[in-house]
Amino acid sequence: MTATVVLADDEAIIRLDLKEILTEAGYLVVGEAGNGADALALIEEHQPDLALLDVKMPKMTGLEIASVLSGRPTAVVLLTAFSQREMIDEARAANVAAYLVKPFRRHELLPALATVLQRVAEDRAFEVEVGELGLAAEDKLETRRIVDKAKDALEDAGLDEAAAFSFIQRTAMASRQRMREVAEQVLAGTLTP
Ligand SMILES: [Mg+2]
Repeated sequence: MTATVVLADDEAIIRLDLKEILTEAGYLVVGEAGNGADALALIEEHQPDLALLDVKMPKMTGLEIASVLSGRPTAVVLLTAFSQREMIDEARAANVAAYLVKPFRRHELLPALATVLQRVAEDRAFEVEVGELGLAAEDKLETRRIVDKAKDALEDAGLDEAAAFSFIQRTAMASRQRMREVAEQVLAGTLTP
C-alpha cells in the first residue's frame, strides 16, 4: 500500500528536496504547504498517513498542528533546525511520532519514516484486537510491550521489524490466538518462524 504524505515547510527548497526523496522512495505526496494554516487544511482534506511538518512556519507551527491532530490517524513527523531539549519534550507531549533535525539526509529520513509507519500499522492491529475482544485500553499497552519484546527476539534471529511483527500477527490469526499469546511463545522459545 502506498503511504500518503502532506509536507509543509516555509522554505521552498526544503519542500522540493523532501518531495523528490519521498516520491523516489514510493510515497505519494498528496499536498504541500508553505505555512501552517495551509498545512492543517491539507491534512484535514486528505487525511494522509504521514504529515511532515516544519516546526517554525508562518501562521501555525508544526507543534501546534500536531496538538490539533492528536488522536487522528495521521502520524506527525516534525522537522526542526533546532535540537533543544525543551522542543523535544514538547514534541513528545503533543504526540509527535518522530522528529528530524535539518539538514536531514535521505538515509536518515527514509528509515525514520518507515519506523513511524510500522508503528502506526502495529497500533491499528492492536486496536482492532482490543476492539474485537472488548478488552481494556491497558490491555493494548501490555500487548504492545510483550509483542515489542518478541519482535526484538525475532530481530535478533535475523528478521526485520516488519517481518517480525507480521509473523506474530499472521500466527495469531491462523491459530486463533491473541498476538500477546503468540509473543509469549516466541519469548519462551517454543515458537520460531
Ligand atoms: Mg521554517
